[in-house]
Amino acid sequence: MLVVETGSPEETACWGALIGKYAGEGLVVCLWGDLGAGKTQLAKGVARGLGISSHVTSPTFTLINEYQGRLPLFHMDLYRLGDVDEAYDLGLEEYFFGRGISLVEWPERIEELLPEERLDLRLVKLEEDRRRLEFLPIGPAPDGLVEELSAHVCPGP
Ligand code: ADP
Ligand code: MG
Repeated sequence: MLVVETGSPEETACWGALIGKYAGEGLVVCLWGDLGAGKTQLAKGVARGLGISSHVTSPTFTLINEYQGRLPLFHMDLYRLGDVDEAYDLGLEEYFFGRGISLVEWPERIEELLPEERLDLRLVKLEEDRRRLEFLPIGPAPDGLVEELSAHVCPGP
């Protein structure tokens, strides 16, 4: 597991950008953390790292936004998901098993549908501008990515 602390929204986005830069095809990143923890900030960075220039906002009502970069990006915010049946209707599994990168805010809504191989990223609010990010690879595939991330630093505020 890799643990880092950030002192600004941009520093959190910088870690996201590294994920976007080094992610392999089909990576699923689950973003665990309370409201305001910085999940969407991190997602903006992932989009940037994938070379996506469009404005990324949380798909709170649409549940999924798609972007095209080096790889497709599927940004999901499942806060308002009703139940697991709705997740099946959305075809979440098709996203997870394609070559695009999936980012899942509120993965606890679909715990039983989460792929066995994924990157779990827990974001914890420490202070107004400080967050702790914990990167935990589940299954062997994201190991290399986390190793790559460990070799980088993001500039603080
Ligand atoms: P979530 O998607 O987890 O609900 P957001 O990314 O939408 O959270 O919001 C995080 C909020 O916290 C933003 O207003 C952002 O400016 C603020 N913030 C302050 N410090 C940080 C930090 N170190 N990392 C991420 N966000 C931060
Ligand atoms: Mg959000």
